[in-house]
Amino acid sequence: MGIAERVLAYGGGRLDRAGALRTDATRLDALLDESDTVVLPLWRDRCLVDGDGPVRLTAERASLARSAAGETVFLGLDGDAAVFAVDLSGLDERSAVEMAGAVRSTDVRALVGRLDADGAAVQAYARGLLHWHRQQRYCGTCGATAVIGGGGHVRTCTGAECGRLLFPRIEPAIIVLVEAPGRPGRCLLARHAGAAPDAYSTLAGFVEVGESLEDAVRREMAEEAGITVTDVTYQGSQAWPFPAGLMVGFRATATSEEVRVDGEELLEARWFTRADLRERVASGRTLGRVDAIDHRLLHDWLAGS
Ligand SMILES: [Zn+2]
Repeated sequence: MGIAERVLAYGGGRLDRAGALRTDATRLDALLDESDTVVLPLWRDRCLVDGDGPVRLTAERASLARSAAGETVFLGLDGDAAVFAVDLSGLDERSAVEMAGAVRSTDVRALVGRLDADGAAVQAYARGLLHWHRQQRYCGTCGATAVIGGGGHVRTCTGAECGRLLFPRIEPAIIVLVEAPGRPGRCLLARHAGAAPDAYSTLAGFVEVGESLEDAVRREMAEEAGITVTDVTYQGSQAWPFPAGLMVGFRATATSEEVRVDGEELLEARWFTRADLRERVASGRTLGRVDAIDHRLLHDWLAGS
């Protein structure tokens, strides 16, 4: 099964985003008062957790949080239950934890493995959406205040002669497993600036304005590793709202084995055989970050021949 058919961490999830409800403010207000509604509190990109994981606010606490703290966004429907997130970032950490009835704050990425797929997906979604709201207080065109609307999926500029609609931004990045030409099969892994001495990972980079994803793959591989690649093939993608990413995974084939790193982003890049990677796994090292698409790209390649 290829990556495109799998659900990677932070994606999928059973939530129905129920986009049609976003414009029905009356209905959303009514849903906030229903007893089975779920309100997830977040504080500055972090989940608020107790001993069982991320807390869900009781109706009483949710009402308090909405009036005392920040904005509320509608995430969707979980069966018949509406799911919202409320941003407690305006409080200090201790007050936010207390208001939520939690014991501490933590990053959703630290909970992977303990949260189920649906739980990780909804927390990541809430984190990304609330982050965008905090970054989009003002209109970039006229500088006026922008106010939340559409159930939290749009902000509207209040400038009298502007009124621009502002939508959440996604920042796509490509991540690439590059194979060497010829045999034996080898893939290119690099040591990034700031990484541990023996930490090797796949190559990645942001897509620039005016580029296709494939253009970005070719440019990044040339800039970072001095290689020309062909056969750029889509593998799958991963939601990466940390804070606003979308990781798009590819395989590509280098036209030659010669590698020349830029010395800034990449300190070293070398070719690894499948036997090399198996040895790394056997010695207890992980291939890529376990919650990220590079882990999947590497293991899929390792399972091939
Ligand atoms: Zn404006």
